[in-house]
Amino acid sequence: MRYIGSVYRPPSEAYSLIIQVTLGCAHNSCTFCSMFKDKRFSIRPESEVMADLEESRAMFRNVDRIFLADGDALVLPTESLMRILGRIAALFPECGRVSVYGSPQDVLRKTPGELEALRDGGVGMIYIGAESGSDRVLAKVNKGASRDEIIRAVRKTEDSGIPASVTFISGLSGQDGWEEHAIACGTMISEMEPSYVGLLTLMVEPAAPLYRDMEEGRFRLLTPVQAVNETRLLLENTEVRRDCVFRSNHASNYVSLRGTLPRDKERMLGQLRSACESGALKDERFRAL
Ligand code: SF4
Repeated sequence: MRYIGSVYRPPSEAYSLIIQVTLGCAHNSCTFCSMFKDKRFSIRPESEVMADLEESRAMFRNVDRIFLADGDALVLPTESLMRILGRIAALFPECGRVSVYGSPQDVLRKTPGELEALRDGGVGMIYIGAESGSDRVLAKVNKGASRDEIIRAVRKTEDSGIPASVTFISGLSGQDGWEEHAIACGTMISEMEPSYVGLLTLMVEPAAPLYRDMEEGRFRLLTPVQAVNETRLLLENTEVRRDCVFRSNHASNYVSLRGTLPRDKERMLGQLRSACESGALKDERFRAL
């Protein structure tokens, strides 16, 4: 089985079999992201993907979950994804879920019928990076999608019966306008009502274009206390009517949170308040991406 370049997957896919169906990310222009800067985007030949699946079957006795990498596997034409899903179903009958990263544009390009076919073919989760709910921040980081497009993409995913896991980044606005970023993320979650929300905290690596802005003083990271206050403001602005699992338990976060909105909102806000009061915030040395 061949892995080409660095391979990334969401934290909840830690135990999944990872199969690269694309290399890199079709957008690859977000200023905060260093993930695929070493790769030129391409779709892998289907014959290679099928060969990797065959080889994995021979290597692993039990495969519960499969994650189709790299950056946005949902960019593949639906027919191609359906052939891959068909092969997965034949080779791994025990596999309960196939998941992919998808950009808002990938989702919006698919018809509702295509998304339903992917659901029936085994796709059980689409990870969508929203990053911010603020159009100002989205434009600044060159996300390539607007608030409205992201909301439509997430709703379309959920309406097709595929749960959406949506990522936001705390600190993405830096010290300028963090309150607006927080409120916009919270209200966006309320409007989209995704099944899952993951909140990371910004860490900027040297390969990310934003690193230079930071080095030259044009972008200032939040302090740990500001980051926690930003998360408080975000949570205060969520008003969901159906269950939404909220996780802020990534290695980059200063305070680890996990709960289901709306019922755990007050508990998580309390955790953030007491972490600030007691100073129990993760030491920088233990933070990671
Ligand atoms: S954040 Fe996602 S969409 Fe943006 S460049 Fe990185 S992988 Fe691509």
